[in-house]
Amino acid sequence: MSADARRQRVVVVGAGMVGVSAALWLQESGHEVTLIDRGPPGRGASYGNAGIFATYGCIPINAPRRLIDAPSMLFDAESPLSIRWSYLPRFLPWALRFLSACRPGRVRATVEALAAILARAEDGFLPLARRAGIESLLGPAGALYVYESDESWRRDRRNRERRRAHGVAFRELDPSEVHELEPALADVVHRGVYLEDVFHLRNPHAVVDRLARAFVQWGGRLRHAEVRTIGNGLPGLLEVVVAGERIAADRVVIAAGSWSKRLLGRLAERIPLDTERGYHVVFPEAASLLRRPVAPIEGGFFMTPMEGGLRAAGTVEFAGLDAPPRPERTQALAAAARRLLPDLGEPAESWLGFRPTLPDALPAIGPLASDPRILCAFGHQHLGMTLGGITGKLIADLVDGRDPPSVDLAPFRPDRFA
Ligand SMILES: Cc1cc2nc3c(=O)[nH]c(=O)nc-3n(C[C@H](O)[C@H](O)[C@H](O)COP(=O)(O)OP(=O)(O)OC[C@H]3O[C@@H](n4cnc5c(N)ncnc54)[C@H](O)[C@@H]3O)c2cc1C
Repeated sequence: MSADARRQRVVVVGAGMVGVSAALWLQESGHEVTLIDRGPPGRGASYGNAGIFATYGCIPINAPRRLIDAPSMLFDAESPLSIRWSYLPRFLPWALRFLSACRPGRVRATVEALAAILARAEDGFLPLARRAGIESLLGPAGALYVYESDESWRRDRRNRERRRAHGVAFRELDPSEVHELEPALADVVHRGVYLEDVFHLRNPHAVVDRLARAFVQWGGRLRHAEVRTIGNGLPGLLEVVVAGERIAADRVVIAAGSWSKRLLGRLAERIPLDTERGYHVVFPEAASLLRRPVAPIEGGFFMTPMEGGLRAAGTVEFAGLDAPPRPERTQALAAAARRLLPDLGEPAESWLGFRPTLPDALPAIGPLASDPRILCAFGHQHLGMTLGGITGKLIADLVDGRDPPSVDLAPFRPDRFA
């Protein structure tokens, strides 16, 4: 810890994967940490995701092809990517920035930045998992992408090349090799990509919950309250206002996922955070059908064997934070899963979650330009379970004044959109 990084009072807002990890790394650095969430830990986006520790995930959903594909997909309620008409006016400014980030040069920069942080993802998560004794919640059987047509196989060639160029190890499989790995898959598979080194979380909610319990066990303070505002308090200090109390802090970490912009109000007006809503359905009888997570590349979702059943999770809907879930989307998800696994049985649970996403698909990690005592840790889009741990470690680097931090933070600056 540098000279100016004495033991500080740090408040972390949001007990999802990102906030809990930040709280643990800050605690490890010796700070006095209060973690606040309006609900129990891990009940936001970190609850119902696909659970893939996707260290290979350096290809953003921004892609030059989106400029061609998006208009036709967006308005189909059952498509893997959709938008509600009523949300269109609020969505447009974000969409324009998104499309601008789909230009080839920008995509290259995004891939570089994601690959660099993903390369450190295990260093950020596995030490926490070991210390908290939750290794049994990790499923180390790899992950499999399946392609149902030669067209989709050819279309994805550039992405496979990019992954390889960034050191991602995988094997290309023909249909018989796919079926050897996953005999229950229907006969619709044209090719496969097997990522042998990938592991998954067998219960993402339990992972976050157990990490939060470890934080409390080691002396951390967990508060159950809605944070209303963050502002100036006593001279030199920040003040976090929750119902009935004002909590003084030297530093505040905003890890409130998709709600971070709402929480920061005017302080974040230039940060174009939106949410990519995603769904899951769980088939309780079907966990043993797959040995590892399988993703049909055209479908935009994963089928992950988990505690409690086989979870089909994914797809993207733009409709903001307040619109109710749309049953057509979970029905379409269940039908798409059944095409690959006809013996799934009936789904027993469905869920809507809110991925926090910035238009260039990179998270915001670092100080707010308007008040550097407030640190952003949000916007992890499809990769928050994978990047939560390393983000937490980077936040501790920043609070401790470690320079340079363990990953170059320039691409993740919260003020890059100003
Ligand atoms: C369908 C789906 C599948 C996914 N699959 C994967 C995957 O396979 N691998 C992967 O790495 N990622 C995946 N993701 C993405 C991942 O789930 C998210 O990026 C990640 O959970 C974000 O974590 P977070 O901590 O930033 O946010 P959250 O988990 O949403 O946590 C934010 C917390 O802040 C709290 N909060 C908000 N406002 C306030 C306030 N004012 N006061 C107090 N508390 C507040 C909320 O209650 C919440 O608990 C998936 C997401 C979805 C939706």
